[in-house]
Amino acid sequence: MISYLPTIYPDELVYSWFCRYYVHAGFFSHKAALGELYCKKSDNTSKEFIGNLNSEAMEQIEKVYSLDELVLNHTMYPQYARFIPLEQKKAALYRLVHNACDAHQLFPVLPRNEGERYLRFCPLCVKEDRETYGEAYWHRKHQIRNMSICTKHKCKLMESSVSAKSEQGFTFCPAESYKHYDEAVIESDSLVIQYAEYLDSIFDAPMDFDNDIPISSILYDGMSKTKYLKPSGRSRYTKMFADDMGEFYKNMGICSIASIYQIQRVLLGSLFEFSAICQIVFFLGMKPEELTYPSLTMEQIRQEQDSHYMKDTAPVDWELLDKETAPVLEKMVKAVYDGTANENGRPERVSERLVYREMGLAGHRLENMPRCRAIFERYTESYPESWARKIIWAYQKLKEEEKTFYWTDIRKISGVKKKNFQAVVPYLMKHTDDITVSKIMELVIVDNE
Ligand SMILES: [Zn+2]
Repeated sequence: MISYLPTIYPDELVYSWFCRYYVHAGFFSHKAALGELYCKKSDNTSKEFIGNLNSEAMEQIEKVYSLDELVLNHTMYPQYARFIPLEQKKAALYRLVHNACDAHQLFPVLPRNEGERYLRFCPLCVKEDRETYGEAYWHRKHQIRNMSICTKHKCKLMESSVSAKSEQGFTFCPAESYKHYDEAVIESDSLVIQYAEYLDSIFDAPMDFDNDIPISSILYDGMSKTKYLKPSGRSRYTKMFADDMGEFYKNMGICSIASIYQIQRVLLGSLFEFSAICQIVFFLGMKPEELTYPSLTMEQIRQEQDSHYMKDTAPVDWELLDKETAPVLEKMVKAVYDGTANENGRPERVSERLVYREMGLAGHRLENMPRCRAIFERYTESYPESWARKIIWAYQKLKEEEKTFYWTDIRKISGVKKKNFQAVVPYLMKHTDDITVSKIMELVIVDNE
């Protein structure tokens, strides 16, 4: 039972709210507080979302806040889901509330660069929050990717020591214990301020759950008034665009400037990443409303869809493409391998076909990409080895439920056929300890008797 739930503050991350709950309710351990909110430790690995609440916690919270509103107003959803297609946007909202999973499965989350690895704060907001509420808290807007200042105070954001990344071991790090009052550094570059305000207003705009206008069409429209698109509308100068844009942002203290491949994928409608899109539109001089309240006609949308066959003469820089794809591929492949990508959590075998499909890569491209090739090879395994991992996973899952179970139960949820078990045995030892191996073997023997 949740004993005492503090009021959530404006623009506060749900994670921050739970941290204050942990402090105010006087828990003696993280584990005890986690137990009140979640079913198991792995139910929340992200500070940007809510995680998989247990049904009691969900009920208690719903008495005070609607969970949809909580996702919309107190998680990073308005950033990550802003530009994804309508159906995907709705599905992501639903899953974040009812069936939480790794956020990477719902929308594009770029790997974090230097400068965006820790939760950030504004020293003047800390001061103000302490005066108004008696304590500091983690603000959402300070965590927007590539946001360098607090738009309220126009001062530079500072990094705390709390990792912003998804972590295996979840801990509560209340802002009050991790922020200290630092001297505020006021930003003087008007372009930096303008860009931050731009991000802010896009982040703040209500999410559109009615219209499904592809972001690629909006960008095509914006680009059609520039030198980057031939007046005929049939040729795009992506390389020139990427070079000019890179130059434009170079001195603005931005953590990650979109690369030519990200730009290309955005323009072709296969990447919907917030920070890359915001960079493109701001550089093109488009107003935030053109993105958040687009008013394109069906004809304009069709024009853009046709343009996908246009000429684009940018040569492929394999080295860069490899470097950029590798971290994304690593995450994807790992999630398939360890099962976090799977709705039921079952580990799967990583096949070459799957890599090509998931990454949207054309055939044989991995040959030109040594980093990606190495990642793929690291996770490659034989069928028997993958069966062994599935059996171990099934055994552990059933054990956690603390009920009696049999070999047939393991077979059922692991999906491994009885006739394949002999081939699996040598690999069991590779992936688990002796005790678990003998427990599994016992179950098989009992079944055969
Ligand atoms: Zn501030």
